[in-house]
Amino acid sequence: MFRKLRVPLCWMSVVFALMAGTLQVEAATYTVKSGDTLYSIAKRHGTTDKKLMAANGISDPRKLRIGQRLKLSSRGSSGPTASRTSSVGRGKRVIIDAGHGGRDKGAMWGGVRESDLNMRVANKLEYLLKRNGYSTTMTRRSDVFISLSRRAAIANQYRNAIFVSIHFNATRETWVRGAETFYAGSRGRSLAATIQQELVKDLKLRNRGVRMARFTVLMQTKCPAVLVECGFISNSSERRRCATSSYQSTAAQAIADGIMRYRWH
Ligand SMILES: [Zn+2]
Repeated sequence: MFRKLRVPLCWMSVVFALMAGTLQVEAATYTVKSGDTLYSIAKRHGTTDKKLMAANGISDPRKLRIGQRLKLSSRGSSGPTASRTSSVGRGKRVIIDAGHGGRDKGAMWGGVRESDLNMRVANKLEYLLKRNGYSTTMTRRSDVFISLSRRAAIANQYRNAIFVSIHFNATRETWVRGAETFYAGSRGRSLAATIQQELVKDLKLRNRGVRMARFTVLMQTKCPAVLVECGFISNSSERRRCATSSYQSTAAQAIADGIMRYRWH
């Protein structure tokens, strides 16, 4: 009886060990060690520091922690990147503007800093757009202050481009929640509409609609330009969602889908 039991148990443990091994390979993670840089980790694993930043929502590559677990690829993850690649964006450029940064933190509620969330969504959005053939320009890549006029000037260097500014919302009326997208000109309006539809659908957010606003970044930008408010961090339940990587990934995917649906002219 014992002998009979021992054999299958032994085999079971081998099977479990194999399964565990397989799972580790699938998850493809790396734990940061002393002396590592994002660049060195990327090089050793046949990827780039930019891809690692996008896959892990890292906005500042200098802020690696020893012991931090990094996703080495998006394969098998529930992230935004999964399997969609195309060349739909070839010849088109998206200026991705992570709102605020540096001394301008944007909204701050419950320990959540808007400028950080904006950067994370921007990094994820860049990754998704590149996978679909778009050229991208980031107005900032780290936690630095950049004036609104400078952001518009960066966009105005390019032809056949659109400008997408990423923000999270806040108000003293803490019950207010939902997504809204702003535009200043008529070409921005249709871009705002497709992005807003995708955001509301994918994140199941209250639809606050698309609105005209004479924001500096929209007024000074010559190409179609929108400013996306991805949710209210002044609302406690929405803030909890906004702070998660999965929410940020879904927001980035929704914005990317909205851009892909936009009729470029
Ligand atoms: Zn903002």
